[in-house]
Amino acid sequence: MGRHRKSRDHAVDNVRGSSMELIILQSLMLNYRHANHTGNHADVLKHTTLVLVLEYMVLKGESFLYVDIHAGAGLYDLRGEWTNRKCEYETGIGRIPRDLVSAPAAMHTYLRIVQELNPGGELSEYPGSPWIARSILRAQDRALLFELHPDEYQHLCELFASDGKIKTEQCDGFQALNDLLPPAERRAVILLDPPYEVKTDYRNVIESVTAAHKKFPSGVYLAWYPVLNRAQSGKLENDFINSGMRNILLAELSIGSQAGNIGMTASGMIIINPPRQLSDSLQTILPFLCDALAGDDGGFRLQQLVAA
Ligand code: SAM
Repeated sequence: MGRHRKSRDHAVDNVRGSSMELIILQSLMLNYRHANHTGNHADVLKHTTLVLVLEYMVLKGESFLYVDIHAGAGLYDLRGEWTNRKCEYETGIGRIPRDLVSAPAAMHTYLRIVQELNPGGELSEYPGSPWIARSILRAQDRALLFELHPDEYQHLCELFASDGKIKTEQCDGFQALNDLLPPAERRAVILLDPPYEVKTDYRNVIESVTAAHKKFPSGVYLAWYPVLNRAQSGKLENDFINSGMRNILLAELSIGSQAGNIGMTASGMIIINPPRQLSDSLQTILPFLCDALAGDDGGFRLQQLVAA
C-alpha cells in the first residue's frame, strides 16, 4: 500500500502541469467518492465554518465570488449506494441536535440548511459545500465550482444547470484557481477541500494558496485538512506558518484518540483572512461539537497561527 501510494505521488509529480496530469489524476481519484464520508464530523466542522464565513461576507454588502476548487457532487442522498457503504453521517450530523434550541446561535444557519433538505426530521439528504454556498449567496454574488471526477461532475453540473450565477467546470481545481485570480468582484471566498488520497494534495494546497494569495492578498481562503498522520498535518500547519502570509486562523476538532486503526479521528480548517467575528463564533461552536460528537475522548484547537 505504502509503495503503491509513493509511486502514485511520484507519477503526479512528474507530470504536473501537463495534459497527461489530468488523465493520471482522474484515474487515481476514481475510487474516492465523497458520498462515503458525507455528513461526518469533518463535514460538520468544514460546513459550519464555511457557512459562518459566507454569512459574514453577505453582511458586508458588496458582491463577492465563491470558488470551490474541489466541489464534489454538490448534494448527497444519504440513502444512496455510496453513502450507505459507511453511513459516516450517523456519527456526524446524525448526532447534532437539529432543533435550534440546544445548538449555539452561530450554528443555526447551517442547521437550517440541513433541516430544509429534511423537512420530516429524519436525515435523507445532506448538503455539499456548493449547495451550502448556493443557499447563502445573493443574486449579485456568483460561484465557480470545479470538480474532476466524471460522475461527481455530472451530478454537480445537473444540480446547478439552471442557476445563472453558478458555473461548473470539470478540471483540476488547483490549476483553475491559478488562472482566475484576482476576481472582478475584488471580494472572494475560496475553499480548498481535496481528498488527500494522493500525498501531493498537501503540497498542492500550500502552494496553491500561497500563489493565489500573491495575486489576490485580500481573498478569504479556507483549506480543510484531515489528521490521519500528525507528522503530515503538522507539516502543513508549519508550511502555513512559514509561508509569509499573515492573519491565519486554525480550527481543529478531534473526536477521539488516534490509538487503534479507526480512521480519521480529527480534522481542521486553516483560514486565511478570517472575518473578524469568526474566531468568537468558533469559540462557542467547537466545545458544542466536541460534546455532541466526541464525548470524553474529544478535543479542539482554536488558534491564531499567524497574527494579522
Ligand atoms: N467540497 C465538497 C463538500 O464539502 O461537499 C467535498 C469535496 S471532496 C472532499 C473532494 C472532491 O475533490 C472529490 O469529489 C474529488 O473527486 C475532487 N478532486 C480531487 N482532486 C481534484 C482536483 N485536483 N481538482 C478538482 N477536483 C478534485
